[in-house]
Amino acid sequence: MSSAALSFTVEVRSDALPDDQREAVLANPGFGKTFTDHMVLATWSAGPGWHDAKVTAYGPLSLFPSAAVLHYGQEIFEGMKAYRHADGSVWTFRPEANAARFARSARRLALPELSQRDFTESLKALVSTDEKWVPAGDAGEASLYLRPFMFASEAFLGMRPAAEVTYCVIASPAGPYFAGGLKPVSIWLSTEYTRAAPGGTGVAKCGGNYAASMIALVEAADNGCDQVAFLDAVERKWVEELGGMNLFFVQSDGTIVTPELTGTILEGVTRSSIIELAQDLGHKVDERRVSIDEWRDGVAGGEITEVFACGTAAVVTPVGRLAWQGGSVVIGDHDVNGGVGSVTASIRQSLLDVQYGRAADSRGWLTRLV
Ligand SMILES: *Cc1c(COP(=O)(O)O)cnc(C)c1O
Repeated sequence: MSSAALSFTVEVRSDALPDDQREAVLANPGFGKTFTDHMVLATWSAGPGWHDAKVTAYGPLSLFPSAAVLHYGQEIFEGMKAYRHADGSVWTFRPEANAARFARSARRLALPELSQRDFTESLKALVSTDEKWVPAGDAGEASLYLRPFMFASEAFLGMRPAAEVTYCVIASPAGPYFAGGLKPVSIWLSTEYTRAAPGGTGVAKCGGNYAASMIALVEAADNGCDQVAFLDAVERKWVEELGGMNLFFVQSDGTIVTPELTGTILEGVTRSSIIELAQDLGHKVDERRVSIDEWRDGVAGGEITEVFACGTAAVVTPVGRLAWQGGSVVIGDHDVNGGVGSVTASIRQSLLDVQYGRAADSRGWLTRLV
Protein backbone atom coordinates (compact mmCIF):
# COMPACT_ATOMS: atom_id res chain seq x y z
CA MET A 1 0.00 0.00 0.00
CA SER A 2 1.30 3.44 -0.89
CA SER A 3 2.18 5.80 1.92
CA ALA A 4 3.43 8.62 -0.29
CA ALA A 5 2.40 12.03 0.96
CA LEU A 6 -0.92 13.26 -0.41
CA SER A 7 -1.05 16.46 -2.39
CA PHE A 8 -4.29 18.38 -2.21
CA THR A 9 -5.48 19.75 -5.56
CA VAL A 10 -7.31 23.05 -5.11
CA GLU A 11 -10.54 23.60 -7.07
CA VAL A 12 -11.45 27.20 -6.25
CA ARG A 13 -15.15 27.82 -6.68
CA SER A 14 -16.27 30.83 -8.68
CA ASP A 15 -19.44 31.38 -6.64
CA ALA A 16 -17.88 32.01 -3.21
CA LEU A 17 -19.99 34.04 -0.79
CA PRO A 18 -19.63 37.78 -1.58
CA ASP A 19 -17.35 39.73 0.78
CA ASP A 20 -20.12 41.74 2.44
CA GLN A 21 -22.16 38.61 3.20
CA ARG A 22 -19.14 36.81 4.59
CA GLU A 23 -18.31 39.83 6.77
CA ALA A 24 -21.89 39.82 8.07
CA VAL A 25 -21.50 36.16 9.07
CA LEU A 26 -18.15 36.83 10.73
CA ALA A 27 -19.66 39.67 12.75
CA ASN A 28 -21.94 37.21 14.54
CA PRO A 29 -20.91 33.65 13.72
CA GLY A 30 -22.48 31.68 16.58
CA PHE A 31 -21.18 28.12 16.63
CA GLY A 32 -21.36 25.47 13.91
CA LYS A 33 -24.06 27.17 11.88
CA THR A 34 -22.23 28.54 8.85
CA PHE A 35 -19.51 26.90 6.79
CA THR A 36 -16.79 28.30 4.60
CA ASP A 37 -16.77 28.17 0.81
CA HIS A 38 -14.62 25.04 0.53
CA MET A 39 -13.98 21.66 2.11
CA VAL A 40 -11.32 18.95 1.89
CA LEU A 41 -12.14 15.54 0.46
CA ALA A 42 -9.96 12.45 0.07
CA THR A 43 -10.85 8.83 -0.59
CA TRP A 44 -9.31 5.63 0.71
CA SER A 45 -9.78 2.35 -1.10
CA ALA A 46 -8.53 -1.00 0.11
CA GLY A 47 -5.51 -1.69 -2.08
CA PRO A 48 -4.44 1.69 -3.46
CA GLY A 49 -4.90 3.48 -0.14
CA TRP A 50 -5.51 7.26 -0.02
CA HIS A 51 -6.13 9.07 -3.30
CA ASP A 52 -8.06 11.96 -4.92
CA ALA A 53 -7.17 14.48 -2.21
CA LYS A 54 -8.58 17.91 -2.95
CA VAL A 55 -9.98 21.18 -1.73
CA THR A 56 -13.32 21.69 -3.44
CA ALA A 57 -16.59 23.63 -3.10
CA TYR A 58 -18.38 23.04 0.20
CA GLY A 59 -21.64 21.28 -0.59
CA PRO A 60 -23.74 18.14 -0.18
CA LEU A 61 -21.97 14.80 -0.38
CA SER A 62 -23.25 12.14 -2.69
CA LEU A 63 -23.69 8.86 -0.82
CA PHE A 64 -25.61 5.70 -1.56
CA PRO A 65 -28.29 4.90 1.04
CA SER A 66 -26.34 1.69 1.58
CA ALA A 67 -23.21 3.59 2.67
CA ALA A 68 -21.98 1.64 5.68
CA VAL A 69 -21.66 4.67 7.97
CA LEU A 70 -25.43 5.22 7.82
CA HIS A 71 -26.01 1.73 9.22
CA TYR A 72 -23.07 0.85 11.43
CA GLY A 73 -21.74 4.24 12.45
CA GLN A 74 -18.14 3.63 11.42
CA GLU A 75 -17.05 7.26 11.81
CA ILE A 76 -14.47 9.36 13.68
CA PHE A 77 -13.80 13.07 13.95
CA GLU A 78 -11.59 15.78 15.38
CA GLY A 79 -12.23 19.33 16.54
CA MET A 80 -9.60 22.06 16.22
CA LYS A 81 -9.39 25.80 15.66
CA ALA A 82 -7.49 28.24 13.47
CA TYR A 83 -6.55 31.40 15.37
CA ARG A 84 -5.68 34.71 13.75
CA HIS A 85 -2.86 36.54 15.50
CA ALA A 86 -2.54 40.30 15.72
CA ASP A 87 -0.08 40.39 12.77
CA GLY A 88 -2.65 38.67 10.53
CA SER A 89 -0.96 35.24 10.49
CA VAL A 90 -3.14 32.16 11.13
CA TRP A 91 -2.13 29.31 13.44
CA THR A 92 -3.49 26.10 14.88
CA PHE A 93 -2.82 24.48 18.24
CA ARG A 94 -1.02 21.14 18.67
CA PRO A 95 -2.19 19.58 15.37
CA GLU A 96 0.22 16.68 15.90
CA ALA A 97 -1.75 15.74 19.04
CA ASN A 98 -5.03 15.78 17.11
CA ALA A 99 -3.45 13.84 14.24
CA ALA A 100 -2.19 11.20 16.66
CA ARG A 101 -5.59 10.93 18.33
CA PHE A 102 -7.30 10.72 14.92
CA ALA A 103 -5.01 7.81 14.07
CA ARG A 104 -5.81 6.09 17.39
CA SER A 105 -9.53 6.64 16.83
CA ALA A 106 -9.15 5.23 13.29
CA ARG A 107 -7.51 2.06 14.61
CA ARG A 108 -10.28 1.57 17.18
CA LEU A 109 -13.01 1.98 14.57
CA ALA A 110 -11.15 -0.19 12.01
CA LEU A 111 -10.73 2.77 9.68
CA PRO A 112 -7.54 3.50 7.73
CA GLU A 113 -4.98 5.82 9.28
CA LEU A 114 -4.14 9.17 7.77
CA SER A 115 -0.53 10.23 8.36
CA GLN A 116 0.18 13.16 10.64
CA ARG A 117 1.67 14.98 7.66
CA ASP A 118 -1.40 14.47 5.46
CA PHE A 119 -3.67 15.49 8.33
CA THR A 120 -1.82 18.77 8.88
CA GLU A 121 -1.48 19.42 5.13
CA SER A 122 -5.25 19.04 4.74
CA LEU A 123 -5.80 21.80 7.31
CA LYS A 124 -3.26 24.07 5.64
CA ALA A 125 -4.85 23.48 2.23
CA LEU A 126 -8.35 24.34 3.45
CA VAL A 127 -7.45 27.29 5.68
CA SER A 128 -5.21 28.90 3.06
CA THR A 129 -8.01 28.59 0.48
CA ASP A 130 -10.63 30.00 2.90
CA GLU A 131 -8.25 32.34 4.71
CA LYS A 132 -10.71 35.24 4.55
CA TRP A 133 -13.06 33.20 6.75
CA VAL A 134 -10.68 33.26 9.72
CA PRO A 135 -12.10 35.99 11.97
CA ALA A 136 -9.88 38.62 13.56
CA GLY A 137 -9.44 36.79 16.82
CA ASP A 138 -7.47 39.12 18.99
CA ALA A 139 -10.49 40.78 20.50
CA GLY A 140 -13.03 38.37 21.89
CA GLU A 141 -12.51 34.73 21.16
CA ALA A 142 -13.33 34.35 17.51
CA SER A 143 -11.69 31.56 15.52
CA LEU A 144 -12.30 29.27 12.58
CA TYR A 145 -13.44 25.90 13.94
CA LEU A 146 -12.02 22.98 11.94
CA ARG A 147 -13.79 19.63 11.79
CA PRO A 148 -11.79 16.81 10.18
CA PHE A 149 -13.76 13.53 9.98
CA MET A 150 -13.64 10.15 8.31
CA PHE A 151 -16.40 7.66 7.59
CA ALA A 152 -17.26 4.37 5.88
CA SER A 153 -18.61 5.47 2.49
CA GLU A 154 -18.65 2.05 0.86
CA ALA A 155 -22.09 1.01 -0.39
CA PHE A 156 -22.21 -2.36 1.36
CA LEU A 157 -24.32 -3.81 4.17
CA GLY A 158 -22.05 -6.72 5.07
CA MET A 159 -20.42 -6.83 8.46
CA ARG A 160 -16.80 -5.92 7.94
CA PRO A 161 -14.72 -2.73 7.96
CA ALA A 162 -15.51 -0.66 4.88
CA ALA A 163 -13.22 -1.02 1.88
CA GLU A 164 -13.96 2.56 0.84
CA VAL A 165 -13.65 5.46 3.22
CA THR A 166 -14.04 9.23 2.86
CA TYR A 167 -11.97 11.84 4.68
CA CYS A 168 -13.42 15.33 4.84
CA VAL A 169 -12.57 18.62 6.56
CA ILE A 170 -15.11 21.39 6.94
CA ALA A 171 -14.61 24.75 8.63
CA SER A 172 -17.00 27.03 10.48
CA PRO A 173 -16.37 30.51 11.86
CA ALA A 174 -16.94 30.55 15.60
CA GLY A 175 -17.58 33.13 18.27
CA PRO A 176 -17.64 32.05 21.91
CA TYR A 177 -19.10 28.53 22.21
CA PHE A 178 -21.66 29.44 24.83
CA ALA A 179 -23.87 32.28 23.67
CA GLY A 180 -24.13 35.02 26.25
CA GLY A 181 -20.48 35.00 27.24
CA LEU A 182 -18.57 33.24 29.97
CA LYS A 183 -21.12 32.19 32.55
CA PRO A 184 -20.95 29.15 34.79
CA VAL A 185 -22.83 26.17 33.35
CA SER A 186 -25.00 23.78 35.32
CA ILE A 187 -24.36 20.08 35.13
CA TRP A 188 -26.72 17.17 35.45
CA LEU A 189 -25.29 13.98 36.89
CA SER A 190 -26.45 11.07 34.78
CA THR A 191 -27.03 8.05 37.00
CA GLU A 192 -29.06 6.01 34.53
CA TYR A 193 -26.87 6.31 31.44
CA THR A 194 -23.15 5.90 30.92
CA ARG A 195 -21.03 7.22 28.06
CA ALA A 196 -18.30 4.63 27.78
CA ALA A 197 -17.52 1.15 29.05
CA PRO A 198 -14.16 -0.63 29.46
CA GLY A 199 -13.17 -2.08 26.11
CA GLY A 200 -15.66 0.16 24.30
CA THR A 201 -15.08 3.29 22.24
CA GLY A 202 -14.98 5.97 24.96
CA VAL A 203 -11.34 6.73 24.29
CA ALA A 204 -11.97 7.18 20.56
CA LYS A 205 -13.47 10.37 19.19
CA CYS A 206 -16.36 8.80 17.31
CA GLY A 207 -19.86 9.96 16.53
CA GLY A 208 -21.35 6.91 18.22
CA ASN A 209 -20.25 8.15 21.65
CA TYR A 210 -22.18 11.33 21.05
CA ALA A 211 -25.23 9.46 19.76
CA ALA A 212 -25.25 7.46 22.98
CA SER A 213 -25.06 10.54 25.19
CA MET A 214 -27.88 12.57 23.58
CA ILE A 215 -30.60 11.03 25.74
CA ALA A 216 -28.77 12.11 28.87
CA LEU A 217 -28.47 15.62 27.45
CA VAL A 218 -32.24 15.68 26.98
CA GLU A 219 -32.66 14.54 30.60
CA ALA A 220 -30.30 17.33 31.68
CA ALA A 221 -32.32 19.93 29.79
CA ASP A 222 -35.55 18.56 31.30
CA ASN A 223 -33.97 19.16 34.68
CA GLY A 224 -32.87 22.69 33.84
CA CYS A 225 -29.19 21.86 33.27
CA ASP A 226 -26.85 22.76 30.41
CA GLN A 227 -24.53 19.74 30.30
CA VAL A 228 -24.25 16.15 31.56
CA ALA A 229 -21.57 14.50 33.68
CA PHE A 230 -21.03 10.76 33.31
CA LEU A 231 -19.78 8.25 35.86
CA ASP A 232 -17.80 5.10 35.13
CA ALA A 233 -19.89 2.26 33.78
CA VAL A 234 -18.70 -0.41 36.24
CA GLU A 235 -19.02 0.99 39.76
CA ARG A 236 -21.09 4.06 38.84
CA LYS A 237 -18.95 5.91 41.30
CA TRP A 238 -16.04 7.61 39.56
CA VAL A 239 -16.44 10.89 37.73
CA GLU A 240 -15.38 10.55 34.10
CA GLU A 241 -16.24 13.60 31.98
CA LEU A 242 -19.01 15.51 30.25
CA GLY A 243 -20.41 14.40 26.88
CA GLY A 244 -17.73 16.37 25.08
CA MET A 245 -15.49 18.03 27.68
CA ASN A 246 -13.05 16.95 30.38
CA LEU A 247 -13.41 18.05 34.02
CA PHE A 248 -11.07 19.72 36.52
CA PHE A 249 -11.50 20.39 40.25
CA VAL A 250 -9.68 23.18 42.10
CA GLN A 251 -9.04 22.47 45.78
CA SER A 252 -8.83 25.06 48.54
CA ASP A 253 -5.06 24.45 48.85
CA GLY A 254 -4.60 25.36 45.16
CA THR A 255 -4.11 21.78 43.96
CA ILE A 256 -5.88 20.97 40.71
CA VAL A 257 -7.34 17.51 40.23
CA THR A 258 -8.55 15.85 37.03
CA PRO A 259 -9.82 12.28 36.58
CA GLU A 260 -6.99 10.05 35.44
CA LEU A 261 -7.24 8.46 32.01
CA THR A 262 -8.76 5.06 32.43
CA GLY A 263 -9.41 4.00 28.86
CA THR A 264 -12.98 5.27 28.98
CA ILE A 265 -12.18 8.99 29.18
CA LEU A 266 -11.40 10.89 25.99
CA GLU A 267 -7.87 12.27 26.16
CA GLY A 268 -8.48 15.95 25.50
CA VAL A 269 -5.75 18.08 23.98
CA THR A 270 -7.07 20.96 26.11
CA ARG A 271 -6.92 18.71 29.19
CA SER A 272 -3.28 17.76 28.65
CA SER A 273 -2.34 21.38 27.84
CA ILE A 274 -4.00 22.62 31.05
CA ILE A 275 -2.12 20.04 33.10
CA GLU A 276 1.11 21.67 31.88
CA LEU A 277 -0.04 25.30 32.04
CA ALA A 278 -1.45 24.95 35.55
CA GLN A 279 1.96 23.79 36.76
CA ASP A 280 3.55 26.88 35.16
CA LEU A 281 1.05 28.92 37.16
CA GLY A 282 2.29 27.28 40.37
CA HIS A 283 -0.43 24.69 40.91
CA LYS A 284 0.18 21.10 41.87
CA VAL A 285 -1.78 18.91 39.44
CA ASP A 286 -3.07 15.48 40.42
CA GLU A 287 -4.40 12.98 37.89
CA ARG A 288 -6.35 10.46 39.94
CA ARG A 289 -9.78 8.97 40.39
CA VAL A 290 -12.41 11.39 41.74
CA SER A 291 -15.57 9.90 43.19
CA ILE A 292 -18.92 11.59 42.86
CA ASP A 293 -19.06 11.80 46.68
CA GLU A 294 -15.75 13.66 46.72
CA TRP A 295 -17.23 16.17 44.27
CA ARG A 296 -20.52 16.62 46.17
CA ASP A 297 -19.05 16.64 49.67
CA GLY A 298 -15.99 18.65 48.61
CA VAL A 299 -18.13 21.44 47.24
CA ALA A 300 -20.45 21.39 50.25
CA GLY A 301 -17.54 21.33 52.70
CA GLY A 302 -15.41 23.94 50.92
CA GLU A 303 -12.49 21.64 49.97
CA ILE A 304 -13.39 22.09 46.30
CA THR A 305 -13.56 25.78 45.46
CA GLU A 306 -13.88 25.71 41.67
CA VAL A 307 -14.88 23.21 39.00
CA PHE A 308 -14.37 23.73 35.30
CA ALA A 309 -14.84 21.83 32.05
CA CYS A 310 -12.54 22.10 29.05
CA GLY A 311 -12.37 21.28 25.37
CA THR A 312 -11.33 22.92 22.12
CA ALA A 313 -14.74 24.37 21.30
CA ALA A 314 -15.58 25.88 24.68
CA VAL A 315 -11.96 26.36 25.90
CA VAL A 316 -12.43 26.51 29.70
CA THR A 317 -15.92 26.81 31.11
CA PRO A 318 -16.75 27.27 34.80
CA VAL A 319 -19.21 24.83 36.35
CA GLY A 320 -21.59 26.63 38.70
CA ARG A 321 -23.91 23.88 39.85
CA LEU A 322 -24.13 20.10 40.00
CA ALA A 323 -27.61 18.62 40.12
CA TRP A 324 -28.88 15.04 40.36
CA GLN A 325 -32.14 13.21 41.00
CA GLY A 326 -33.03 14.62 44.41
CA GLY A 327 -30.51 17.38 45.04
CA SER A 328 -27.92 19.88 43.92
CA VAL A 329 -24.89 21.83 45.11
CA VAL A 330 -23.79 25.30 44.04
CA ILE A 331 -20.09 25.68 43.32
CA GLY A 332 -18.24 28.92 43.92
CA ASP A 333 -19.46 32.37 44.71
CA HIS A 334 -21.76 33.97 42.16
CA ASP A 335 -21.20 37.38 43.70
CA VAL A 336 -17.53 37.29 42.74
CA ASN A 337 -16.71 37.72 39.01
CA GLY A 338 -20.16 36.42 38.03
CA GLY A 339 -19.22 33.02 39.43
CA VAL A 340 -16.01 32.57 37.43
CA GLY A 341 -13.36 31.43 39.92
CA SER A 342 -9.97 33.10 39.86
CA VAL A 343 -8.02 29.89 39.15
CA THR A 344 -10.40 28.96 36.33
CA ALA A 345 -10.05 32.48 34.90
CA SER A 346 -6.24 32.48 35.03
CA ILE A 347 -5.90 29.05 33.41
CA ARG A 348 -8.34 30.03 30.73
CA GLN A 349 -6.46 33.26 30.07
CA SER A 350 -3.04 31.61 29.87
CA LEU A 351 -4.31 29.02 27.37
CA LEU A 352 -5.95 31.68 25.18
CA ASP A 353 -2.82 33.84 25.37
CA VAL A 354 -0.75 31.03 23.82
CA GLN A 355 -3.39 30.22 21.20
CA TYR A 356 -3.76 33.85 20.09
CA GLY A 357 -0.02 34.53 20.10
CA ARG A 358 -0.10 36.94 23.05
CA ALA A 359 2.23 34.80 25.16
CA ALA A 360 5.45 33.03 24.22
CA ASP A 361 4.85 29.60 22.71
CA SER A 362 7.56 28.01 24.81
CA ARG A 363 6.47 24.44 24.07
CA GLY A 364 6.12 24.76 20.30
CA TRP A 365 2.38 24.14 20.47
CA LEU A 366 1.51 26.39 17.52
CA THR A 367 1.73 25.48 13.83
CA ARG A 368 1.36 28.18 11.23
CA LEU A 369 -1.40 27.52 8.67
CA VAL A 370 -1.27 30.76 6.67
C1 LIG B 1 -13.36 16.17 21.94
C2 LIG B 1 -13.72 15.72 23.31
C3 LIG B 1 -13.15 16.30 24.46
C4 LIG B 1 -12.22 17.48 24.41
O1 LIG B 1 -11.06 17.23 23.69
P1 LIG B 1 -10.15 18.44 23.17
O2 LIG B 1 -9.05 17.76 22.45
O3 LIG B 1 -9.69 19.16 24.38
O4 LIG B 1 -11.01 19.28 22.30
C5 LIG B 1 -13.49 15.77 25.69
N1 LIG B 1 -14.36 14.73 25.79
C6 LIG B 1 -14.94 14.17 24.71
C7 LIG B 1 -15.89 13.05 24.90
C8 LIG B 1 -14.63 14.64 23.43
O5 LIG B 1 -15.21 14.08 22.38
